[in-house]
Amino acid sequence: MNIHLDGNGRFARLGETFYSQVSPDPLPEPYMVSANPQLAARFGLDAEELHGEEMLALLAGNRVPRGVRPLAMLYAGHQFGHFVPQLGDGRALMLGELRDGEGKIWELQLKGAGLTPYSRSGDGRAVLRSSIREYLCSEAMHGLGIPTTRALCIVGSDEEVYREQIESAAVLTRLAPSHLRFGSFEVFYYRNQHQPLSILVEYLLEHHYPHLREEDHPVLALFREVVARSARLIAQWQLVGFAHGVMNTDNMSMLGLTLDYGPFGFLDAYDPAFICNHSDHEGRYSFENQPSIGYWNLSCLAQAMLPLFAPEPDAAVELAKDALADYEPAFMSAYADGMRAKLGLVTRDAEDHKLATGLLKIMQANGADYTRTFRALAGFRSADQGASCPAADEFADRDAFYRWGVDYAARLRREDSNDEIRGSAMNQVNPKYVLRNYLAQQAIDRALNRDYSEIERLRQLLARPFDEQPERDAYAALPPDWAGAISVSCSS
Ligand code: AMP
Ligand code: MG
Repeated sequence: MNIHLDGNGRFARLGETFYSQVSPDPLPEPYMVSANPQLAARFGLDAEELHGEEMLALLAGNRVPRGVRPLAMLYAGHQFGHFVPQLGDGRALMLGELRDGEGKIWELQLKGAGLTPYSRSGDGRAVLRSSIREYLCSEAMHGLGIPTTRALCIVGSDEEVYREQIESAAVLTRLAPSHLRFGSFEVFYYRNQHQPLSILVEYLLEHHYPHLREEDHPVLALFREVVARSARLIAQWQLVGFAHGVMNTDNMSMLGLTLDYGPFGFLDAYDPAFICNHSDHEGRYSFENQPSIGYWNLSCLAQAMLPLFAPEPDAAVELAKDALADYEPAFMSAYADGMRAKLGLVTRDAEDHKLATGLLKIMQANGADYTRTFRALAGFRSADQGASCPAADEFADRDAFYRWGVDYAARLRREDSNDEIRGSAMNQVNPKYVLRNYLAQQAIDRALNRDYSEIERLRQLLARPFDEQPERDAYAALPPDWAGAISVSCSS
């Protein structure tokens, strides 16, 4: 069995200005850790087929089919606010492109496939722990309806790699329509190479934003669309309580996808200052900073695209500023709409913002769990103003919740809200299950003992995060005490 990888696909044809050709470093004695049947099916594959010897060798980076020229993409990026002129795929290799059942083209990358010209001081490897986290979170985000790169499988090996401790190596297969990043533009802008910038824009317009080609100013239209998509993406992160952890511009997708899962985390108790990345001492990428960091990152992208906006620098800057000004309203409106849906409101009211922040404030003061509180809010009955609502259980001071419930009930009455209808609509937007850190950690701990069953259980659970799955109720419980001690850093 094989997949039809096009080694001379759309991106490869752009030429070596944009990447380096690299052979993967063989992974000793590879074995399949987990294969994603849902995604495999999209490509007409059976997950079992991925376990076959040939496919395993391909997915480990040990067999490069004829016609395939693996490549590492070039990019730069602002890391924690500082510009790094050259980054690039230091451990990911694009094998080629493949078509799904609907004819859509995807890039297939092996993450952890060995050294590239961009590895800097790294070893080109990914560890099993982080590969499991990325695998599960990509699929969890997809289940939540949030744009993301996808994950097809994890191949493991007993090869040792050195991080804070000795760990074992793994290769994650990830897929995306494009892996281009803001940093893919920055690298050429700072080298003063404007031709490659235009080529990248043309490429994106042709293959990923064809509807913008007829616009008066397609480059600007493209930038505006990236602004809009990024705003919506980050609003979705905030609504579901997801912290990315490393929002460097090299981890920001030109397609508005969640990209490069590292020390991410979902909120447990609601804490806007939540920092999921233990290497982020200043809290630059704290949960509440994400929306403004999104803007900052888009400003970096705008800077890199300036030469394409207008020949006159001043005019280019004006156009960029104008487009960037759309970010905040786009974010606010996506967030406000999403928050209204989380509260089960169907009409708009000037007081909605106050109602939502009122709830978030008491959640913060009471250490209420973000996911559980919103999920339980579906059980709110207008008639008793929340007296019977299980969400009250999440609050140390239940009266704080009941006081808020008076305002909420009044608001619901203003739109004649029906408890039943509202409750089921809310369950479509407030997930019951998210990939809490401790859940990922449990799957990792078992995998380190060669038991991969928990990865598969979590993958299945998180593919349907809005559905009640009574036999899996325990996965929606509050995190255990030991969860607080889990430390996730950039090293992966
Ligand atoms: P990240 O913050 O994980 O997205 O990575 C930032 C940069 O470091 C990218 O260029 C990565 O390819 C590179 N990198 C991260 N880990 C490694 C590694 N173990 N070996 C080589 N390069 C790496
Ligand atoms: Mg990255």
